[in-house]
Amino acid sequence: MIGKLTLIVGPMYSGKTSELLSLVEIYSLGKKKYLVFKPEIDTRYSVDHVVSHTGQKVPAITIPSASKLLEKFDDINEKLDAIFIDEVHFFDIDIIDVIKKIILKGVDVFCVGLDMSYKHRPFQTTASLMAIADEVIKKKAVCHVCGEYKAVVSHKTVNNSGSEIDVGGMEKYIAVCRECYLKLNGSL
Ligand SMILES: [Zn+2]
Repeated sequence: MIGKLTLIVGPMYSGKTSELLSLVEIYSLGKKKYLVFKPEIDTRYSVDHVVSHTGQKVPAITIPSASKLLEKFDDINEKLDAIFIDEVHFFDIDIIDVIKKIILKGVDVFCVGLDMSYKHRPFQTTASLMAIADEVIKKKAVCHVCGEYKAVVSHKTVNNSGSEIDVGGMEKYIAVCRECYLKLNGSL
């Protein structure tokens, strides 16, 4: 049987990782076999765990690239039921083909990622995965400026230029709604 692909997307602080961890718990309670991966770039909270903003965590394998993820997957001697990938927007575009291969082996794949950069542009990796996903769970956050539960964009509060790949937390980013983003940035 072919596995399914589920994407959990949204801005910063929208509870994406918490959602992922509750899905991990479902597989864990069901005594299923799974692995959790995270990109090497994101070691904000932990190098060997995926940690939510609320402090929940699960052990994770830190990997530098999509090809290394596939290598690691192929090294596993037992049949996995699922893999979970945090911060998928940080991976190179090869992750699309890697995930397709894994699904064809009957493994469910769950990915968490930012759908848009702080420049309000889609992350290519997340956007492509959303297109081929069986299910997309789109989360929103509470707007840091107006307090409404409709924030869909991450706004960078410092050095608002340069690379769209710039790891950070509360010291760099807030989640805002489109109206507040427009006021802060002058354009959408
Ligand atoms: Zn707002």
